[in-house]
Amino acid sequence: MEREVLEMDVVFVGAGPANLSGALHLARLVKEHNGAVERGEKEGAPLGEIEIGVIEKGSYVGAHNLSGAVMDPRALRELFPDFEAEGAPLESPVKEDFFLYLTEKRAIRSPITPPPLKNHGYYIVSLNRLTAWLGEKCEEAGINIFPEFPGAEMLYDLEDRVIGVRTGDKGIDKEGKRKGNFEPGVDLHAKVTVLGEGPRGSLTKMLTERLNLNEGREPQVYSIGVKELWELPDDRYPAGRVTHTLGFPSDAKTYGGGWIYGMQNRILNIGYVTGLDYRDPLLDPHAEFQKFKQHPFLAKLLEGGKMIRYGAKTIAAGGWHAMPQIYADGVLLVGDCAGFLNSQRLKGIHTAIKSGMLAAEAIFTALIKNDFSAQQLSRYERLVNRSWLTPELRKVRNFHAGFRHGRWLGMANAGLQFITGGRSWGLFDRSRAEAGHEAMGKLSEYGYRGDNIEQRYNGLRFDGKITFNKLTDVYHAAVGHDEDQPAHLHVLDTNICAERCAEEYGNPCQRFCPAAVYEMVEDGASGKRRLQINFSNCVHCKTCDIMDPYQIINWVTPEGGGGPDYKGM
Ligand code: SF4
Repeated sequence: MEREVLEMDVVFVGAGPANLSGALHLARLVKEHNGAVERGEKEGAPLGEIEIGVIEKGSYVGAHNLSGAVMDPRALRELFPDFEAEGAPLESPVKEDFFLYLTEKRAIRSPITPPPLKNHGYYIVSLNRLTAWLGEKCEEAGINIFPEFPGAEMLYDLEDRVIGVRTGDKGIDKEGKRKGNFEPGVDLHAKVTVLGEGPRGSLTKMLTERLNLNEGREPQVYSIGVKELWELPDDRYPAGRVTHTLGFPSDAKTYGGGWIYGMQNRILNIGYVTGLDYRDPLLDPHAEFQKFKQHPFLAKLLEGGKMIRYGAKTIAAGGWHAMPQIYADGVLLVGDCAGFLNSQRLKGIHTAIKSGMLAAEAIFTALIKNDFSAQQLSRYERLVNRSWLTPELRKVRNFHAGFRHGRWLGMANAGLQFITGGRSWGLFDRSRAEAGHEAMGKLSEYGYRGDNIEQRYNGLRFDGKITFNKLTDVYHAAVGHDEDQPAHLHVLDTNICAERCAEEYGNPCQRFCPAAVYEMVEDGASGKRRLQINFSNCVHCKTCDIMDPYQIINWVTPEGGGGPDYKGM
């Protein structure tokens, strides 16, 4: 097939905070360099016009960006020293912090907020709005942004050096045939390709496997955050108030916790994080969140309010030991897809922005030297090691490991790390970790009979006021996919679903997916059960790719523009 080839200098895949910051920082470095050379203030040749492109699978910049979020402004301030005056969309500075331990009926306020959860000087933000604003700044700087262009595959030369990315074809029907509006994807050739796809990026997954970038690293572990925005009828929860919770509804063996943030205009931002290394095969992260809202403290807070938005996204929580090699010939990894997240502080926006900026500095030097080899691009790793990212991430390198042994040992380990500067031993050492899906136990280990969710969530009802079923929530994520296209969830062996998985785990995809994409249905003809994939509901959280116990689900990019619309989230 004839494909259009676009020659660029640098292509950023994914318009998230890491890549947009990287693209902008690079454009400025090039401009400053060219200006200084032309004015005779700097030796060397000008770089001339450097073509920088950002491709994004969502329908606009920010459409797929979801986070809590309380942002540490450290990195944004490096990029925009006057970000407030420049109009960065900030919901509110954090004015007060609360930390609650929830029992089934009570909310016990801790007299002290654990230091990692102190947010004074930080800002509550909508990541959707922040990235949209960064996108505008990029366009003002002359960067080409291509929404509705999903990265479908990496392009390599004969020696496995990355030479760019191929975007997805448009206009393929569900049988895989070309429709009247068929358009082949474009080959974007670049000297450097930067992957900033967010957690469990589909190209990152293929690249790290092909180039063995995870060698000697621990498996990444993830959590999933499920979130809603609510309109409150009055000022009962002020903008700028931040509450984190521990305890109910997670059982003591499962990593989990909640957040409640006050945004402008009486909007309440609530969510619940569940570790994707849970053991109980009947666990359902969406149901955990619904239970969280049934707690008397939350139920009272939400009374008379209206749920207006929904979303779900995974978080790369494995930390320092789980980061892949972040450079190879012609390619760099930034942000969450490289594991730059401080899971103890529940913060990844500042680390994403900083990683993008450091990648830009490494690319700038590579452009000056006209050398895009792994050896030259390894400068990025050295810049990371010399920056504040490294002490911040190393200090919490064993944080998540403690929670593999339950809530209380996890808390003890977190406290210990605070004293030892990140050192942990024995049980708490991250280097003894397993991938999250390997932790899932079988139904028989729990004495469950079949997949009846009532065995874990007895009494959970969706009342349409406080609690909602997945389909109602998905409606509030404004998800859209053209239904006449091949499913973008590839299940490599569906024979496993009806028998082996049903018997061993009770088809946990029906539960861990927060968007009701997977459904075991009776097959009319044979009378047997089969897997039905309602792919148009997918909110692109990547949980299925991570948590499937047989690792036979591959999430790939759907046709450009499809997915959630996280406006204001
Ligand atoms: Fe998330 Fe997978 Fe469900 Fe899509 S199908 S919403 S990626 S778990």
